[in-house]
Amino acid sequence: MPQALITGITGQDGSYLADFLLGQGYNVFGMVRRSSTVNFSRIQHIQDKITLLSGDLLDLGSLISILQEYEFDEVYNLAAQSFVPTSWEQPVFTGEVTALGVTRMLEAIRSVDKGIRFYQASSSEMFGKVREVPQTERTPFYPRSPYGVAKVYGHWITVNYRESYGLHASSGILFNHTSPRRGLEFVLRKITRGVARIKLGLEKELRLGNLDPQRDIGYAGDYVRAMWMMLQQSAPDDYVVATGETHSIREMCEQAFGFVGLDWQEFVVQDARFIRPAEVDLLVGDASKARRTLGWAPAVSFPALVQMMVDNDLALAQQEG
Ligand code: NDP
Ligand code: GDP
Repeated sequence: MPQALITGITGQDGSYLADFLLGQGYNVFGMVRRSSTVNFSRIQHIQDKITLLSGDLLDLGSLISILQEYEFDEVYNLAAQSFVPTSWEQPVFTGEVTALGVTRMLEAIRSVDKGIRFYQASSSEMFGKVREVPQTERTPFYPRSPYGVAKVYGHWITVNYRESYGLHASSGILFNHTSPRRGLEFVLRKITRGVARIKLGLEKELRLGNLDPQRDIGYAGDYVRAMWMMLQQSAPDDYVVATGETHSIREMCEQAFGFVGLDWQEFVVQDARFIRPAEVDLLVGDASKARRTLGWAPAVSFPALVQMMVDNDLALAQQEG
């Protein structure tokens, strides 16, 4: 049975990846950091099938101990301070976890077992103020937030360990992906939750920031498959993972409110509190390398994704109501 370690298993992607790897016959381990109140809601349904280990990307010793104790074939580094606005409020912490945390894990692998295959969760936020459209693996980076800057570091240190020490280390440059398990603060989830609560009379309005930015957004369940595919290749490499379509925040509102028969313009209020110091205006990825080499393609379309999330949030709002 192959053994995999997932950092960030309590997050959106970690939970979908754990589901996927269990389906592939893996023995799945997840690293969780200590907290005074545990939140395992995303992995509750599989908690008896996985093993949770205590560790933190801020603590190199904990990473080394975990790798020494179990013989892992693959490590998926999904843990991060992943919310862009928080990265302006806590830039140093974001750098410690999202940037240096990658080096800590790579160092642990280098010192314990260089044969472990490594996946780094890189991000389209690295393209920021985009240098070309669409973005590919060769597009230069121009990050626009401390989060984006930290991810650029994480990306290059992964490439560097591959080239310096011959590690099987791959970086997935994933464009936005979401799901019913997405954190409530991210825009499409915030919209679908708002739609459901307005429809059921629990809220009267939805306050958002800039409605103009465009995002290439897919379904998280599709994207974790690409992570695994990267580690099954004989050689490590970097891949853009995206749908190739882009949608403005305004379009997301139109689509989500439209599903419940409401006009978004009657409920969405623009609020300066959600405007960012620097914005990423347009992201759209060219995933032809992933299609060609990995055989990866997304299965869930944009309307199907929005519908899935609205349905889920309606059910949750109904329980609450
Ligand atoms: P989430 O925010 O849902 O999950 C982040 C995870 O990281 C949580 O499990 C969190 O644990 C864990 N974590 C945070 N800090 C530490 C730490 N110091 N030590 C150990 N674990 C820690 O993110 P997603 O699942 O959406 O994203 C997964 C990865 O992919 C992230 O690296 C993200 O930046 C990246 N990414 C995501 C994209 C997206 O659209 N979703 C796009 C491109 C990249 P806890 O539960 O304790 O908070
Ligand atoms: P990001 O692409 O990783 O930053 O993902 P988000 O879902 O947080 O944001 C996507 C885009 O939505 C960004 O351009 C935000 O400026 C824009 N946006 C507009 N209003 C909001 C809001 O209220 N919350 C969030 N999170 N984003 C918003």
